[in-house]
Amino acid sequence: MSNAIHIIGGGMAGVEAAWACARAGVPAVIHEMRPKVGTFAHRTGDLAEMVCSNSFRSDDHEQNAVGLLHWEMRAAGSLVMEMAARHRLPAGGALAVDRDAFSRDVTAAIRSNPLISVVEGEMTTLPKDGSWIVATGPLTSGALAESIRAATGAEQLAFFDAIAPIVHADTIDMSVAWRQSRYDKGETEEERTAYINCPMTKEQYEAFIDAMLAAEKTEFHEGETAGYFDGCLPVEVMAERGRETLRFGPMKPVGLTNAHQPDVKPHAVVQLRRDNALGTLYNIVGFQTKMKYGAQTSVFKMIPGLENASFARLGGIHRNTFINSPTLLDSQMRLKAHPWLRFAGQITGVEGYVESAAMGMLAGRLAAAEARGEALPPVPATTAVGALVSHITGGADAKSFQPMNVNFGLFPPLPEARGGRRGRAERYKGYTDRAKADWSAWLSGMVARAAE
Ligand SMILES: Cc1cc2nc3c(=O)[nH]c(=O)nc-3n(C[C@H](O)[C@H](O)[C@H](O)COP(=O)(O)OP(=O)(O)OC[C@H]3O[C@@H](n4cnc5c(N)ncnc54)[C@H](O)[C@@H]3O)c2cc1C
Repeated sequence: MSNAIHIIGGGMAGVEAAWACARAGVPAVIHEMRPKVGTFAHRTGDLAEMVCSNSFRSDDHEQNAVGLLHWEMRAAGSLVMEMAARHRLPAGGALAVDRDAFSRDVTAAIRSNPLISVVEGEMTTLPKDGSWIVATGPLTSGALAESIRAATGAEQLAFFDAIAPIVHADTIDMSVAWRQSRYDKGETEEERTAYINCPMTKEQYEAFIDAMLAAEKTEFHEGETAGYFDGCLPVEVMAERGRETLRFGPMKPVGLTNAHQPDVKPHAVVQLRRDNALGTLYNIVGFQTKMKYGAQTSVFKMIPGLENASFARLGGIHRNTFINSPTLLDSQMRLKAHPWLRFAGQITGVEGYVESAAMGMLAGRLAAAEARGEALPPVPATTAVGALVSHITGGADAKSFQPMNVNFGLFPPLPEARGGRRGRAERYKGYTDRAKADWSAWLSGMVARAAE
């Protein structure tokens, strides 16, 4: 198998990458360290093990972005989606599965494919040539992580995420909030108005602190905190350290004038920063949190201007190895400095089983096309796969880059869409209809022909 694509890691991304190569007629070799070397979260030696929840989330491909991703993956012949359908359990609108049967059959399908072989054992260094896909996930082994760090630079590899909630920009009440950078800093008007600010009175601030302190929190998994550092303290832990800590930290009200009430000095200010080039998503600055999702929604909606906010993703802090993809990867998912290495899955800064599998599938297709001397055109950013890959390879702000779930805020807005809650169902249907047409065209090669 001298012309084979080698894949490090046989998780969600690795199996999809290998499957995509085999479907394209290109041999693939998966290098998987389990069961010889384990992690704190995996229990078995099977490929594509679901380490926590047994759900692939919503299967609604008309109104939900992850459901749309399921649809696109099925259309492309995804192994994960095929086996999920085979072992589906009743779960309302969600795609939940019997996890052991699912992983067992993924493993059997991979092992019986004549174009795929599996080599057991840990890879401890990045290879220097050939064609490789690194899909070692959030729990990449220490030795390989060191090698990745050496190849990418110490600043470009993280071992924990610190995710602040992300809000759909069009759901922020701008009759309460206003745009301004602290001290109006910046060369251009765009920079001087880069932040969205939400003001709080003393009473609102005190009630907000009380709610955060009382909120239910999630715990780290056993073994997850090794190497956890003070730099990504949850916002509620900052509040626990003193009721005024946040007012002297991310919520300090200095250098800002409320555009709606210039004479009233806010007691505290919550700032939101643009999260993507499209300007559709804003993250709440400094608000990484371990609060449970339900608690986050009610606590963060206490922030004036966010009462009706819709969250593209909620916050979290997890053990999570990921690279700064917007800086490091080209549009073909290759490391710019070492183009024989592609990255795929959660290590690229997507988050979740489905997103990781989808990025594995795409990396496999790209690597196989390259091996066959073909060049695939870019995946349209209007599709779920395309929106994700565009985000991680350039659309996201590299400075504040944190792992991302698929969501409609990543899609280029529809020019004719109606705003507000009432237009939402229509808008989401518009996104998914457009995505399905564009994905089908891309799969059939129509996009390539149109581009020629
Ligand atoms: C504790 C925990 C809980 C999670 N819960 C959920 C959840 O409920 N829902 C959800 O959608 N996502 C969850 N995730 C995220 C989930 O891991 C990913 O979404 C998904 O499994 C990532 O797919 P992947 O292929 O990138 O990585 P993985 O599925 O983790 O696969 C990576 C593979 O690489 C192997 N490997 C690592 N290093 C080496 C090496 N040096 N040499 C050879 N092989 C190596 C590993 O053994 C593993 O099999 C969770 C993650 C963690 C850590």
